[in-house]
Amino acid sequence: MGHISAGSAKGTAALDGSVYVYVEDVRDEGVVPVLDRIAAYGLAGVTVAAAYHGARDVTPHGASRVTLRSDGVHFTPPADLFGALRLVPPVRAGADGEPLAALREATLDRGMALHGWTVFLHNVTLGLAHPEVTVHDCFGGRGFPADLCPAHPDVRLYAVALARAVARQGVDSVVAEALHYGAFSQGHQHERCFVALGPMDEFMFGLCFCEWCMRRAGDLGVRAEVAREECARIVGGVLDGDPPAQGEVTRAALTAYAGPDVVAYARARSETVTSLVSEVASAVSAEGSRLTFLDGTGHRKGYADGLPPAGLAAHDAWQLGVDLVALGDLVPSLGVFGYARDPARVADDVGAYRRSVGVDRELRVVLRPGLPDADSDDRLAAKVRAVKAAGGDAVDFFAYGLVPYSVLNRIPAALGRKP
Ligand SMILES: [Zn+2]
Repeated sequence: MGHISAGSAKGTAALDGSVYVYVEDVRDEGVVPVLDRIAAYGLAGVTVAAAYHGARDVTPHGASRVTLRSDGVHFTPPADLFGALRLVPPVRAGADGEPLAALREATLDRGMALHGWTVFLHNVTLGLAHPEVTVHDCFGGRGFPADLCPAHPDVRLYAVALARAVARQGVDSVVAEALHYGAFSQGHQHERCFVALGPMDEFMFGLCFCEWCMRRAGDLGVRAEVAREECARIVGGVLDGDPPAQGEVTRAALTAYAGPDVVAYARARSETVTSLVSEVASAVSAEGSRLTFLDGTGHRKGYADGLPPAGLAAHDAWQLGVDLVALGDLVPSLGVFGYARDPARVADDVGAYRRSVGVDRELRVVLRPGLPDADSDDRLAAKVRAVKAAGGDAVDFFAYGLVPYSVLNRIPAALGRKP
């Protein structure tokens, strides 16, 4: 679609970039005014939510000032892709009006890129309707309806079909969010836990021990049942009143706390994710688009307050089953979250990702231009400079409808353009 990345031509080249937008933003404000604004910021791209999850968002310049979103896609799922599948995405109201096609046409007219933001395995609507495809904890529970298990064959078929369907909207890239394992604390709305679980207890509680995960681990020589029993013994003990282990999850700490079988089991999950991403990347490529794989680790660490714990996101990616070195060989583009207040932290995170994925992969960095990460024009500008200096190729700002115009107006100066 004519959008060529700067690739590894870093240093002197201008940063590529986009703004994340919702179909509701465009519907509220009109496609022309939205694209006018984004172009005026000096950005040549839009990343639109094509498949998204439910949310209740304050939308400061939206028509209703608060926007309810439900799980679903903004297009009609093609029958040839989904007709034979167990899992079919819910469809958002208005999809028959083909809002993505209209946005594609309008962006092409202006020479702007359009990327299709696609949430894959985080879908509580599908999980509640099909609990058998969701994460199965070490006690045998199905308490994670939002997390579809990437090892389940029906989930894998769904992911490939969804990727193809978004690619067919004519997007320059499919931006894959949640195409990996989830984490314990992202299970459902109104989550409550009045037990002091430590980070390692939460990690073990969030591991999936469904038959498909256990079979894949067993195929790799991992003692999966031993790992499950250890997780149940340790987490069960904390739920019964044992003191939780403190400190962040690292391979060394987890080995000391839970033993080598649990670590081996957790690490074996990366084969499940890598092989799924490979299938999805091939499907996207076959439809004439390309895949940007978003690693959710930085989101998990910094989302709440922009103060991520010390471990760098690239070093913790294995906890979601993400093997960055393997993915660096498989996908043309990786996206990461720079959700931190401190520009130096953003630089450290981006630099670690760059070293993991290699020099010739596109590395895109998602930044929040306002709260909780940026409290001033200068702080956002410092973070954009940090991304560039650390080897990032593109900055994608999150998100058009969620922040006031006064915050979006920081973008041109941050990119080094006159406001
Ligand atoms: Zn599983």
